[in-house]
Parts: sequence; structure tokens; C-alpha cells
Amino acid sequence: MFWTEDVAAKCVGPQIINDSKTPSGRVHVGAMRGVLIHDAIFRTLRERGIEARYLFGVDDYDPLDEIPAGKGAHFEQFLGQPLCNVPPPDGSSASDMAEHYISEFFQVFEELGVKVEKYRMRDIYRSGKFNEAIDIILRNAETVRRVYKEVSNSDRSENWFPFQTVCEKCGRIGTTEVFAYDGKEVSYRCRPDMVKWARGCGHEGKVSPFDGRGKLPWKLEWVAKWISFPVTIEGAGKDHSTKGGSRDVSAACLRAIFQKEPPLNVPYEFFLVGGAKMSSSKGIGASARDMANLLPPELLRFLMIRTKPNSPVNFDVHEEGIVKLFNEYDRFHDRTVTGKATADEAFVTRLAAPASIEGHEFNANFQLVTALIQMPHLDAVKEIEKRAGRPLTASERAHLEARIRSAQVWVDGYATEEEKTRLQETLPARAAELTQAQRAFLHALADALPDTTWEDDALQSKIFEVARLTPVEQSLAFKALYRVILDKAAGPKAGNLLAFLDRDFLQRRLRELPFDRVQFWKETSVTADELRAWHTKEAAKIASQEHRVNVEGAVFSTEYTFTLTDGKRVLRRVVTEGTPAPEGVLA
Ligand SMILES: [Zn+2]
Repeated sequence: MFWTEDVAAKCVGPQIINDSKTPSGRVHVGAMRGVLIHDAIFRTLRERGIEARYLFGVDDYDPLDEIPAGKGAHFEQFLGQPLCNVPPPDGSSASDMAEHYISEFFQVFEELGVKVEKYRMRDIYRSGKFNEAIDIILRNAETVRRVYKEVSNSDRSENWFPFQTVCEKCGRIGTTEVFAYDGKEVSYRCRPDMVKWARGCGHEGKVSPFDGRGKLPWKLEWVAKWISFPVTIEGAGKDHSTKGGSRDVSAACLRAIFQKEPPLNVPYEFFLVGGAKMSSSKGIGASARDMANLLPPELLRFLMIRTKPNSPVNFDVHEEGIVKLFNEYDRFHDRTVTGKATADEAFVTRLAAPASIEGHEFNANFQLVTALIQMPHLDAVKEIEKRAGRPLTASERAHLEARIRSAQVWVDGYATEEEKTRLQETLPARAAELTQAQRAFLHALADALPDTTWEDDALQSKIFEVARLTPVEQSLAFKALYRVILDKAAGPKAGNLLAFLDRDFLQRRLRELPFDRVQFWKETSVTADELRAWHTKEAAKIASQEHRVNVEGAVFSTEYTFTLTDGKRVLRRVVTEGTPAPEGVLA
């Protein structure tokens, strides 16, 4: 069972899922993990025919306790005020700071097809929806203090009440402390020294705690949400879900004050992004917006929900990491379309995929698309269409265009110089590092090209065959190819890449690097004993064999070509001085 199915199996009756975010700056993509975990649970419940709602709160009554990166001058004076009361940064058309940052986050929800019922804490408090819960919690302040002590071993003074008013004088909420409640009004003071990040004005007053004049601390705000909405499922990050952590405190308060059980928790681990910080100078990084620009919706959903919530996910935007993600998604997708997927693979693919899952007959491999868009002489869509032998359908075209957009964002914003795939107009200097065997392989491949069908699979097979007949290790053969064409050590599947290149250009390039025939023979030779040992071991697989002798000065290369039972051909070479290898070395 996929993990969302395990969660669904525990649910009886209608469900209300809740999640929330404090919009205190650009939202990091890590916050999408909770959003998409809840979304996956929501979709699974709906699919099971279980009535469900997915609520998402904007915690905009939280105080501004940190200045968003690079915005010091604007925000400093507002530290301590509720986020919904802080003006947006310059140039923003939003009504306030909370709106400014959360709207960018919600735009990502739209693109990912995450459908939530949004609410704002500002509206919840001001409309009086939490009045009853606030009154009960304040009357039970002593119970709250006891729970804090018992569950998290934190001391609160006898005069501490779980509430913060908006200071009537300075408008701050993060600096106020309530020390009495008479059932109608709370007494508070605005302390200059209460927190490090903001300075209260020293005002003391008495005010009603209802209708938006203040807020509950967030552990009690959780309790009020759970009891008022009421919430049945709410996952929390691992940092909140530890023993004695905030989740435990909230649950214990709920039980002690309201005699109710807390919602089902789905604790989830961190989502970390590696490699993105290098691009901060370009203003591109790891915000939810940035990642939604980089990855198509189905890839971002797949990345976030494929792994069980209690395992961390570390996504690396370097070439290796992003290529692996796309390839893994494609593999799951293809296996699902062809009916070869396991139940879990098919389930997560359907959860991640757009509305319907369709097969794609053409190759939109991310690494290939990335290489194509970096070749100035090619139009990637036209080239891929040419290879498919027909125009792409509308959905295929949309799929390909999404890949092209991702590839372009990655190349422009994240790829290092070394990771960029530039078709080399001239032979790269680093090709000089190739061995004689690698060079000889390139020449042999050039010789074989005129008879090779100019198509991905045929070219790929030819590369393997020429490598076996050189002979050179396959990995070294591919490295030689990537080096002389792209000046890289790796690249997209070579057969795919070559199919997009001009045959004459390729032949010229492969022959450009000279090699020393005798050196090449020596690098690739085996001794007569090694040959006999190999021959004995592989005897059952050998269908036929032939040999010939080449000579260069006094050096003889006796070359045995074996045709194996699977049709493949391999070559072994024995090099001798003065005379060829003795007749009957394999008799
Ligand atoms: Zn004040």
C-alpha cells in the first residue's frame, strides 16, 4: 500500500485536513512538502469516496519577527506588528506584507492543482470565530501552565496568560504580555525587553481579547483550530513532532481543556535543496516559486510525495540530481502506462501526474532536451517531431514544451559552466587527454558511420559494437565521444545525441585526433595465456571465430574476432615483436 492509503485506512467518516503557513517572507520550497503531503492524502480520501475538505490557513496575525532578505530599510520599523498590518515591500500591489508573500505561494498551488479552502487568521480573529475558544482557554490558563510544565518542562509564571493583545499604542503584538483575565477583558503590558527582535513601547492597558484584538500563542492557536473547524488530519514537521515538542503540548492542552482527541498527525521530515545556493547571485534559488519554475507540476509533486513522509528528501539541482529525478519519473510513468508498474509505483504516478496519464511515443528525456536546446542550429520541437515521424498531439506537445521550459530554466539559472552542453565548434583542447585506445575507437566509429542507419537505437548499438571490436571499455568509449563533441565527461544517451548531429561533421570530428597504431595495439593487447584463459571461460558462448594479422614495422597484431551465440562480436588482440603470435594459440 502506498503511504497515503495507510493514512486513508485509518479514517472513519468525513475528514477535515488542515495546514497553514506564516507569510513572513518568500516561502522556501521545503514548505511545499507539507502542502503536497496533505494534498496527496486529500486526493486519496476523495478517491476512496471519503468526504474530505482541505483547509489552508494564512497565519497573518503572527508578528513580524524577522526581516525578509534584503528588505531591511522598509520592514525594520514594523518588527513586532501582525504581518497583516505591515505594508508590502515597494512596488508590490498587495494590500499588506502577508498578502504579498502568500499570493506568490498560492500561485504555485494553482499551478500544481492543489485545491484548498483558504482562510486568513486575521479574518478568523476579527470575525469572532475564535471568541469562544479564546474565552475557554483564558479561563483555563492554569491548566495550560501545568501542561507546559508537565509536557515540555517549560515554566510559566502564575501571572502568565496564553494570549497576546495588539498594543493599543504601538500596534505591536509580539511584545505584549497578558497578566490577568476577568472574563471580559485582559490586562496587558507592552514590554521593551520581552523579545530580542522587537522593542515594545511600555504601554499598559486593559482590553477585550475578542474580535481580533489579539491572538493565541501558536500552540494554543492550533488547539483553537482543531476544536473550531474541527480538524481531523494535520501533519506537522518533524521538528514540531518530537516528544515533548509543540505538537505534544497542543494535544495535551486539547485533551485537558476540551476533553477531545487531537487530529491524526502525519509527521514529515525536511525537504532540502542542494546546489541552489550557488545561484543566489542571479536571484534564483530554492523558493517554492523558483522550484515551480524549474520543475513541471508532476515532477514537483512526484518529488515531494514519492518518499514516505518520515524520510528526509534531499533534492540536488546539479545535473546528476535533476536528471535522476526526471528519469525516475519517466520510468514510473512508462511502467504505469504499459502495465508493468507495481501497485505503489502506479499509485504515486497517478497522484503526481496531470489529470490523465497518457503514453508518449516520442523521447522527451530531460538530458536530451537539455542538450538540444543548447545547440543553436536546432529547433528542439521540430527535431523531435521529425524523429517521431509525425506531428505531436496537443498533449504531447504540451509535455515537450514543459520539458523545454524546465531545461531552459535549469541551463540559465542552475547549471554550472561544466554542466552546460555546448556542441564544440572545434576539437576541445582537453581531448588531448584521451588514450590511444580511445582515439582509435573514435576513428573506427567514423569508419562505421556511413553504413549506420541515422537513428537513435542503431547509432547506440553501433557505438557498443565498435567499442567491443576496438576493444575499449564501454565507459571509456562514451567518455571519448562526449569529450570530442561536448567537451564533457558525460552527456545524454549518446545514440540520441549523435542522431541530431550532421553525419559529415561527426565523421570529421571523430577523425580529428591522430593516434599511434602501435601504441594503441599495446594498450589493448592481452597475452597469449590471458587469451586462452578467456577463451576457455567463454567457450560455451562462442559461435565462431576468425583471426587476421596486422603489421607495423616489426610489430605484429594478431586479432581474433569472436562471434558470440547472441550475435555480438568481440575482439581480442595479441601483440608480438618480430613474428606474429604462433599459429594455433587457440588450438
Ligand atoms: Zn506597545
